[in-house]
Amino acid sequence: MKLQLLPSSFDENGFASERQHLSCFVIDDSVAVDAGSLAMATNYRQKKQIRDVVLTHAHLDHIAGLPLFIDDLFETLDEPIRVHATADVIKILKRDIFNWSIYPDFSELKNKNGAVLEYCAFEVGKEFVIKNLTFKPIEVNHRVPSIGCIISDGKTKIALTGDTAETDEFWQVVSTEKNLSAIFVECAFPDELRELAQSSHHLTPKILRREIEKYTGDRCPIYVVNIKPMYLRKVVRQIEELEIENLQILQLGKVYEWI
Ligand SMILES: [Zn+2]
Repeated sequence: MKLQLLPSSFDENGFASERQHLSCFVIDDSVAVDAGSLAMATNYRQKKQIRDVVLTHAHLDHIAGLPLFIDDLFETLDEPIRVHATADVIKILKRDIFNWSIYPDFSELKNKNGAVLEYCAFEVGKEFVIKNLTFKPIEVNHRVPSIGCIISDGKTKIALTGDTAETDEFWQVVSTEKNLSAIFVECAFPDELRELAQSSHHLTPKILRREIEKYTGDRCPIYVVNIKPMYLRKVVRQIEELEIENLQILQLGKVYEWI
């Protein structure tokens, strides 16, 4: 399995910046988990292959690239972009994004080959399959209906929290999984912004440490994602100060591969 967290922005030299404004993981260059920078940062191969997008929740930083991705590929699609999400998230997309005010309702439009957008609802706790990947969605604790998930290709298995505050079920389920290759956890704010983190349902490094302690499964690398760009340095320093050996920051743009 290959996984890449797409970059969101550029530094002053035009290279991918380490500041993560948006969330979009690409697995095996062909399935996206969240769509923050889906239209903006995918390479040619990914644009050609990605037809399935799994959404953890409907916050803008996780869906911003989705309408633009469909728009970009509209003419050439020979199968629809399938948006996999809970019924709650699909309802929000239909009401607030693909509503002809913010963007066209692509589910009403067709190109010469047929539909360009298809909604595929999944239920929390029920596994579903996309290509060779099995997804197990687990409800997490965010301001809006949100999931984390366990993703397996039969050989490699990884877990993602998505955006969340303190949560128990995710860690319970993940702890029962055998042979996890990696866990990806969010940590949006530094410790001094604990109140803001709590009201927006995100983690800080100190809260993250307590969350990780809930994991009782086999030891594996844990990667931190979703650090608010403005607090990147501070959060990275505070995570380093936790001195948790298998905890590190995920590098944006880097392709991680498990064989
Ligand atoms: Zn969110």
